[in-house]
Amino acid sequence: MPATTATPDLFASLVDDVVATGAERVAVPTPATGETHHELPRSTADDVVDAVSRARLAQIAWARAGFAHRRRVLLRAHDLILERRELLLDLVQVESGKTRGQALEEVVQAAAVTRYNALEASRVLKGRRVRAGLPTLVTTRVRYRPKGVAGVITPWNYALSLAAMDVVPALAAGCAVVQKADDQGALSILALRRAFVEAGVPEALWAVVTGSAEEAGEALTDTVDYICFTGSTATGRRIAEKAGRRLIGASLELGGKNPMIVLDDVDPVHAAADAAFGCFSAMGQLCVSIERIYVHRKVAAPFTAALVERLRDPRLGSGLDYGSDFGSLASAAQFARVTAHLDDAIAKGATVLVGGNPRPEIGPWFFEPTVLTGVTPDMDVYAAETFGAIASLYIVDDEVEAVLAANASEYGLNASVLTRSARTAKRVSDALLAGSINVNEAYRGSFSSVAAPMGGVKASGLGRRNGREGLLRFVDAVTVSRATGILQLPRSGADVARLEGPFLLLTRTLRAIRRS
Ligand code: NAP
Repeated sequence: MPATTATPDLFASLVDDVVATGAERVAVPTPATGETHHELPRSTADDVVDAVSRARLAQIAWARAGFAHRRRVLLRAHDLILERRELLLDLVQVESGKTRGQALEEVVQAAAVTRYNALEASRVLKGRRVRAGLPTLVTTRVRYRPKGVAGVITPWNYALSLAAMDVVPALAAGCAVVQKADDQGALSILALRRAFVEAGVPEALWAVVTGSAEEAGEALTDTVDYICFTGSTATGRRIAEKAGRRLIGASLELGGKNPMIVLDDVDPVHAAADAAFGCFSAMGQLCVSIERIYVHRKVAAPFTAALVERLRDPRLGSGLDYGSDFGSLASAAQFARVTAHLDDAIAKGATVLVGGNPRPEIGPWFFEPTVLTGVTPDMDVYAAETFGAIASLYIVDDEVEAVLAANASEYGLNASVLTRSARTAKRVSDALLAGSINVNEAYRGSFSSVAAPMGGVKASGLGRRNGREGLLRFVDAVTVSRATGILQLPRSGADVARLEGPFLLLTRTLRAIRRS
């Protein structure tokens, strides 16, 4: 078991913060050893309904407290995240099996998202006066009213940063949150929440529930005023159907099969380093990591050699320090999925360029970063998201072939292009169908830009998190028009007839001076 800065008492007290009344507990393993690390309670549907009711009450005061108060609280939470980074890093690693470097990505992201939303919420959501349709007769303002209680459902892979990206803008907008944490991420989320509570977020305003998708997950979608879901496309479709029936809004951050295009003007060694990181950061268990590489024939040989060289002897491990480059797969289920995709591909004729082996001597779910060639449409790994440890390499003859192949997917989450030419980068970016596009990098440019929207097209989702769009999810735009009383609005046919001439004159004048 890895030695952490957290004590068993701390684990126990974090687990106590889950809203759950029943006695049932489930054992949660750590990927480092596969052994039970802690136990979590199961929230029932009644627990979820109760948490939503209490959140609803807490939200009223939070919304009234105003932007300045919320900004102070969130900035204090930001500082606490940084102060507690060692603990948060430990928890993320213990729960996910990722390296410290990848855990740091999460902690930094959580802090950046908190700061962004603390500072930007009032600017984005303060409302504005707009040109009235009946000038002098009425004035018109747009106000943004918090939706109420947002439900947040997050998966196991980036528990801390994904939670922050949905929860913090909801709080900044004046909403309350009830979050269903995945079992393998709940401790990280609870520790993050603890920092926010100590910073001044009322306990009931951000409630965390755990439990089964069938009971806790469904109850959440049935009760909240808005739902943020991150997870698979299959579950996203189900959530969208329910949200549609209830006529509530939803943001859905779903799966991907992200392509990287390597063009013929790159330095093949640098490009291979970018590809290795982009494919196997968090062992490929990141929604925006790369699973398909399209390399130009002219650089294919040196690029492939450099990629193989880089991944031949990977430093695998999940120690609580910066000594490893690649972590573990997160669970037995992930290990089984990766193995199944690999076995299927090999049985149907794919070649393993590098990797391809489990590494049980390091930990039960460790697996070598694996690159395949000769992948064909009949193989599962060709079009389905593996979400771990495997990337496929294809050789293309030109840019057009690369773009067409990259776009030939039901998904459209992230895409990357490596080229020295700014003009080529612009042309290819314009043609790629994805919610984020990274030039000369795999995903970190867009992922770390918390002021920019993040999300997918096609089966990769609906709606956006981060940036202005991430805040606007949590409010209803309300139009407030006020009759000025300077002139009376028409109330009869005779009134309308009298005003028709002046109004036409006004409309033509405004058109002439190009104001409408
Ligand atoms: P998943 O099976 O869809 O589960 C995600 C979460 O949803 C889990 O907490 C799960 O709870 C819960 N859930 C499942 N069914 C539910 C229902 N009917 N109602 C309410 N909640 C329900 O996804 P996963 O396999 O754990 O996560 C990996 C997927 O997430 C990949 O496809 C990946 O690409 C995607 N992802 C996308 C992004 C993004 O930003 N686009 C980011 C990260 C991950 P249980 O654990 O209890 O089943």
